[in-house]
Amino acid sequence: MTRLAQTEGLTDIQREILSTVRDFVDKEILPVATELEHRDEYPAQIVEGLKELGVFGLMIPEEYGGLGESLLTYALTVEEIARGWMSVSGIINTHFIVAYMLKQHGTQEQKDYFLPKMAAGEIRGAFSMSEPALGSDVSAISSKGVRDGDDYVLNGQKMWLTNGGSSTLVAVLCRTDEGHPEGTAPHKSMTTFLVEKEAGFGEVRPGLTIPGKIDKMGYKGVDTTELIMDGLRIPADRVLGGQTGRGFYHMMDGVEVGRVNVAARGCGVAQRAFELGVSYAQQRHTFGKPIAQHQAIQFKLAEMATKVEAAHAMMVNAARKKDSGQRNDLEAGMAKYLASEYCKEVVEDAFRIHGGYGFSKEYEIERLYREAPMLLIGEGTAEIQKMIIGRRLLEEYRIQA
Ligand SMILES: Cc1cc2nc3c(=O)[nH]c(=O)nc-3n(C[C@H](O)[C@H](O)[C@H](O)COP(=O)(O)OP(=O)(O)OC[C@H]3O[C@@H](n4cnc5c(N)ncnc54)[C@H](O)[C@@H]3O)c2cc1C
Repeated sequence: MTRLAQTEGLTDIQREILSTVRDFVDKEILPVATELEHRDEYPAQIVEGLKELGVFGLMIPEEYGGLGESLLTYALTVEEIARGWMSVSGIINTHFIVAYMLKQHGTQEQKDYFLPKMAAGEIRGAFSMSEPALGSDVSAISSKGVRDGDDYVLNGQKMWLTNGGSSTLVAVLCRTDEGHPEGTAPHKSMTTFLVEKEAGFGEVRPGLTIPGKIDKMGYKGVDTTELIMDGLRIPADRVLGGQTGRGFYHMMDGVEVGRVNVAARGCGVAQRAFELGVSYAQQRHTFGKPIAQHQAIQFKLAEMATKVEAAHAMMVNAARKKDSGQRNDLEAGMAKYLASEYCKEVVEDAFRIHGGYGFSKEYEIERLYREAPMLLIGEGTAEIQKMIIGRRLLEEYRIQA
């Protein structure tokens, strides 16, 4: 079962972490995932287990109590977890993005205060850019923060917060025109606010309401919510990095590593779909032989495995590029685009291999079939990835006029 998606050149520590996580996935996640997903139940016990393994602090530097691991280790961990249940990888993904943004851009006081608690999983992060009227076009956000004494007063409505209810720290992107002259480009007048709150629903802090869970077709278990700010007061020292006007860059930096992460999720879900397909194909007989012996099914398996390998290789390449300190937006965009498209295709082929049984909730592939589409949307749609890839290619291949 482990022939595919191998990664050359890992350290002993990376191998050990991955083998521990894989073991955890096989024993603690896979046996319960589908049942919990059908009940849309938050996997509290699994989350406790991941806390104990140190997964919430995987990339947080050791000086703040984390494991100080690379993006590659993180992405490979996410791949393993998504193989078990994609929703669990969603629970750690937004946490990871917020911790990464703090590590890269936070003031020393913000890092000292938040990162140790985040490494222990005591504070859990969510991030919020999208609004009811926009997702792709982040520069059009209308939520606003206005300075009032030592505070900012935030107003506006946000949409689609993964972990909006269960998190206790939300990185919220708002427009702040203060200090920025009329006519400043929209992306230069945005600010990231670090908003602490109670976990749960309803009024979770004065001026801040999380109305309830959005009912989704898949990606269940993990809560996805709206967030309403109505005169929410945030102290000025909770502006990420202590400087207004930098929020768009903070978020884009976070989303760039998030894209590697979504690619890794696509790889994990596709691997699981392949495992289910290749196993079922050897058990189901038609016309006197296992369906795996029909060439049409073998071709499907060949295509699926090739896609699993290709997506894994691109995801690893994108993570390694970032780890080496280089800009990786092109590679991350390509990896996210390819892995999410391939994931959807591999899942669909595994579904077809299952015949009518794939349509039954008793079979795991039914869950994967509802989960894969989320990856086509989250951290930027396919069209947005192609815009990023296209722009970067034209920079790289500019001809002399
Ligand atoms: C389950 C789930 C969880 C999410 N979690 C979060 C979260 O934690 N935090 C957060 O901030 N957001 C989150 N999102 C929001 C997500 O990032 C957006 O849904 C996504 O960016 C797309 O935005 P949209 O839905 O507004 O679609 P739109 O931007 O309205 O796009 C609609 C369609 O038009 C296409 N399109 C848009 N612009 C162009 C263009 N210029 N050229 C060509 N085609 C274009 C898009 O590709 C898409 O096909 C989540 C979404 C979902 C479904």
